[in-house]
Amino acid sequence: MDTNVLSVENLRIEFPQRRRTLVAVDDVSFDLRRGEVLGVVGESGAGKSLTGAAIIGLLRPPGRIASGKIWIDGKRVDNLGPAEMNKIRGRTVGAIFQDPMTSLNPLLTVGQQLVETIRTHLPLDRAQARARAVSLLAEVGIPAPEQRFLQYPHQFSGGMRQRVVIALALCADPKLIIADEPTTALDVSIQAQIIGLLKRLGKEHGTSVVLVTHDMGVIAETADRVAVMYTGRLAELGKVADVIRSPKHPYTAGLMSSIPAIGQSLDRLHQIDGSMPRLTAIPSGCAFHPRCPHAFERCQRERPDLLDLDGHKVACWLHSESTL
Ligand code: SF4
Repeated sequence: MDTNVLSVENLRIEFPQRRRTLVAVDDVSFDLRRGEVLGVVGESGAGKSLTGAAIIGLLRPPGRIASGKIWIDGKRVDNLGPAEMNKIRGRTVGAIFQDPMTSLNPLLTVGQQLVETIRTHLPLDRAQARARAVSLLAEVGIPAPEQRFLQYPHQFSGGMRQRVVIALALCADPKLIIADEPTTALDVSIQAQIIGLLKRLGKEHGTSVVLVTHDMGVIAETADRVAVMYTGRLAELGKVADVIRSPKHPYTAGLMSSIPAIGQSLDRLHQIDGSMPRLTAIPSGCAFHPRCPHAFERCQRERPDLLDLDGHKVACWLHSESTL
């Protein structure tokens, strides 16, 4: 039976403080099928990166999974210890972060790092691992891979370094890649290349990708489905084509109108007045109500749950049958 590569069920992430506990991610659920790219989008502080970190077991204390469950390739992982999670990371799940140097050791050649990662996870001898490393470099579009294999990270441009990180993430042919703002630090023209690469590799390898980004334009280019997050909760979840054609949540509609054309600089969310509230000051009812052009009385009073409208999910009273 074809199981989901990833299932997140009612995930809640908390940050305990001396006097109270802050809830950074609240009741977030989604699934990911084989070869699917799920975009997770929202402003800074929406909880999207924390969700990605929780999936790969890299949530930094005092942040903790307070409740909920995470399955990767049919195995429950939210309750695993660091050693067990380490084995899954790299073998079953690859990670790509905004700054390639987070994943690269400046003191080792790119080839050494690739070979080490391959041999940690796959039963290959040094020569076989070397051949695999060179072929991965070629696959991610690095010219002259035999020569580049011998070079150090500082000898690569930012875009080429991110390609190396993608090669590292692919070393053990993982089922899932978590990519957190993988193109944000890159020039716009390089961004498009990296997005194209992620998309192609996902399809060719059958790898599922969770793509965390603040940029709806990147989601529109890359993802099959999109989860829109606001103050730690899902605001909308659906197929990218549906969400782009008819966004159901006013926040998503604001994000859509901020999509820049490829080649333009990002003017983030310029259509939405105000900014995401801090975790210490989340408004009552629908957390988006102070910024929402469609807010009405109920929105301040009651928090909307995620409604399922034929697979397109939205948390907004405008779509409730009873809006009294
Ligand atoms: Fe706007 Fe109300 Fe919908 Fe929230 S529930 S998005 S405030 S209309």
